[in-house]
Amino acid sequence: MKNIAAYVIFILFMTILLPLFLVKGCNPDNGEKPTKKTQQKIIEGKELIKIYNTKTGNTEEMELEEYLKGVVAAEMPAAFHIEALKAQAIAARTYALTRIERFSEGQIDHITAPLCTGIHCQAYLTLEELGQAHGQSWITEYWPKIMQAVDETKGMVVTFEGELIDAMYHSSSGGVTEDSENVFATAMPYLRSVPSPNEESAPKFSSSITMSFNDFVKKIQEMVPGINITKKNVTEVIKVADKSETGRIKKLMIGEKIIEGRDFRARFNLNSTNFKINLIGDNIEIETLGNGHGVGMSQWGANAMAKNGSTYEEILKHYYLGVEVTKYN
Ligand SMILES: [Zn+2]
Repeated sequence: MKNIAAYVIFILFMTILLPLFLVKGCNPDNGEKPTKKTQQKIIEGKELIKIYNTKTGNTEEMELEEYLKGVVAAEMPAAFHIEALKAQAIAARTYALTRIERFSEGQIDHITAPLCTGIHCQAYLTLEELGQAHGQSWITEYWPKIMQAVDETKGMVVTFEGELIDAMYHSSSGGVTEDSENVFATAMPYLRSVPSPNEESAPKFSSSITMSFNDFVKKIQEMVPGINITKKNVTEVIKVADKSETGRIKKLMIGEKIIEGRDFRARFNLNSTNFKINLIGDNIEIETLGNGHGVGMSQWGANAMAKNGSTYEEILKHYYLGVEVTKYN
């Protein structure tokens, strides 16, 4: 009987008490969400951030400002104007801090960290990886400029009514950015459609892909099983069901099925949802305008503004409406 009692106590200890100790031991904040105080510590470099490395599968810890240098270098061409690079550094800092706050218990796709090194969050490359990608001469020429963009904006963030914004950005918009609710679920007051001129030099400003009609049909049938598409009926079977004011496709009607523009974009690996499908002989050509989701700051638009004399603050205030660019406190 005594043995059974001891056994029960042992099991209770193992199942309830021990995990409690372990949780307490691993988490000095007792599971509280990070507060502004924690974010302040992160900004000052007194607390490290956790980043899930998509290449190694490891979770690494680093200082926010060091992480940002690898993000700016990976996310924007370093030949861009310094004011555009500074705008990028501030957007990336704000984006990271927002994610750290929102996913304090880990992001669903990488539960050990709120951010990853892939384009899923923000692309990040180490100095070594940058050297491998661009060569040593790139490091000599551009790394000081990347450091300057981050260092000279240290601690600066974008806020709306005192709160950090969801600082979305993309490569090129195709001439006009998009309202957030047309791409993501939520309408954000600062993520509104704004003109983004002079992006034409962006390499993927306009592009097209071509495939055989049969390959096109196969891919469509993966989305809508059993659908009958011929060259004769294709324009009747695939129709635009909903388009945003900026011309991006929100929904397609394929037969009886509604397909989201972003799902179609992913399936065909298109640069954006601003696309047009053309039947040319035995081929299908899909033309796209812009590169990326089109919400928030356009990187090529930011560079065009910088070259025309805009400061990083003017750039950020153009792409994020009604915001403040400020030191976080
Ligand atoms: Zn991620």
